[in-house]
Amino acid sequence: MDMVTVGDPKMTIGGQAAPTTDFVEVINPSTAEPFVKAPVANPMQVNDAVAAAKAAFPAWSTTPIAERQQLVRAFAAKLRENIDILAHMLTSEQGKPINNAKGEINGAIATMESYCDLDLDPVVIRDKPEQFVELRRRPLGPVAAITAWNYPVLLCLWKLGPCLVAGNTVVVKPALVTPLATLKIGEIAREIFPAGVVNVINGGNEVGAALVTHPDIRKIAFTGSTATGKRIMADAAPTLKRLTLELGGNDAGIVLPDVDPKKFANDIFWAKFSNCGQVCAALKRLFVPDSLHDALIAEMIEIARSVKIGDGFADGIQMGPIQNAAQHARLVALVEDAKAKGATVLHVGEVPDGPGYWFPITLLGDVPSNADIVHEEAFGPILTVYRYSDPEDALARANASQFGLGASVWTSDVGAGAALAERMEAGSTWVNQHPSMGPDIPFGGVKQSGLGVEGARWGLEEYTSVHVVNVKKVGP
Ligand code: NAD
Repeated sequence: MDMVTVGDPKMTIGGQAAPTTDFVEVINPSTAEPFVKAPVANPMQVNDAVAAAKAAFPAWSTTPIAERQQLVRAFAAKLRENIDILAHMLTSEQGKPINNAKGEINGAIATMESYCDLDLDPVVIRDKPEQFVELRRRPLGPVAAITAWNYPVLLCLWKLGPCLVAGNTVVVKPALVTPLATLKIGEIAREIFPAGVVNVINGGNEVGAALVTHPDIRKIAFTGSTATGKRIMADAAPTLKRLTLELGGNDAGIVLPDVDPKKFANDIFWAKFSNCGQVCAALKRLFVPDSLHDALIAEMIEIARSVKIGDGFADGIQMGPIQNAAQHARLVALVEDAKAKGATVLHVGEVPDGPGYWFPITLLGDVPSNADIVHEEAFGPILTVYRYSDPEDALARANASQFGLGASVWTSDVGAGAALAERMEAGSTWVNQHPSMGPDIPFGGVKQSGLGVEGARWGLEEYTSVHVVNVKKVGP
């Protein structure tokens, strides 16, 4: 990996490149080798970034929304101009195939831009001869946007769009293991926004925690694990910060007996294995009727055997590595635990030779209910398959999870699918797809999968507070 191609990444504080003496080596997960040093914020710089966001807030929050949207559009255009370098950084640090990296960036830019078509106009609640009541939306103040390593660009831009359009300023902190594309986004933002509106710092969990406890941060927009989400909720309590928490999932999908395995297998397969299974709302637990089990698994194994796994820069690669060593070790442990407790390995695929955090496509059956993987999120290419004979039993087992991010029903009877979807405990339930998102569709989790939503008007409103103006009309 060429050190020069990713340049000399810098943090952005108060509209300037922020020099630092602290660095972290960024590892390419396809080689397990460090390839560039990224800056890390010291505690003073965390404070500087928050101070810059606070100082920029009065002017930015009172800039007309149409002007803010114009700048967000200009930002989107500049990001598009930089798609090649952003995608190069993303594949280098995350491992995903370069075409998927471009897809992530283009999709995320479009989602960010979609907030430029929304408004936050006041809503009149009462308009009577004696009284006028209006609901207005106000920005909150400096926001901390804290992201995970599976979709670094998407998670960042999904937050920047509503945050900035609503009139907030922001300090972004990516995951320490994938900072490059996010730092580049900060650099590009410097050219567009007034100083201090967008600050990007890098650092580990302690930098995240410093933002969460900082008295001048008004909201935490977080994507990451449920365990960290709980920590953030506790740490944010003393200052009663607003929270959006997009957390983990252990999504179930129920296949109904009318499914043609040949027709459905490909979509079900990729519902699990896209992005090497490192997707919060991937289909992680598949419920299959006894009558279809063998045929559907056979089809999925055939697809698994055809998948090209390797370095995301190589031609035709469909699946990259696991992003980091700790996550890889966690997946190994989950599979070993399930096997030790009696699970059957239905399929385990091949991985490239040599270094890199490669993990084989794995299908597990007969997973006993005391296996960790039944209850905990497997954030990688492992699908657990559960047989059923009674759909009500499948539904009860699907819903018996602490998580509630996504869910799906697979059927050629869309009416039956929609009826069962209604009964699944999730923030989104899809029929014949999993997941499916769009800029006009909100996304969020129930139970321990999260708090609040991202996306569309509902996501925009999460970056505002309600301000009621209530006028009693008293004449002269
Ligand atoms: P993580 O929780 O370990 O880290 C996420 C981010 O939080 C990182 O930037 C990290 O530095 C920061 N952080 C850690 N401790 C912190 C603290 N105490 N205070 C503030 N910040 C802190 O998660 P991860 O392993 O990087 O990401 C994988 C997880 O993210 C999975 O569980 C996955 O399901 C979840 N995820 C959820 C969604 C969603 O939209 N629901 C999307 C993508 C990923």
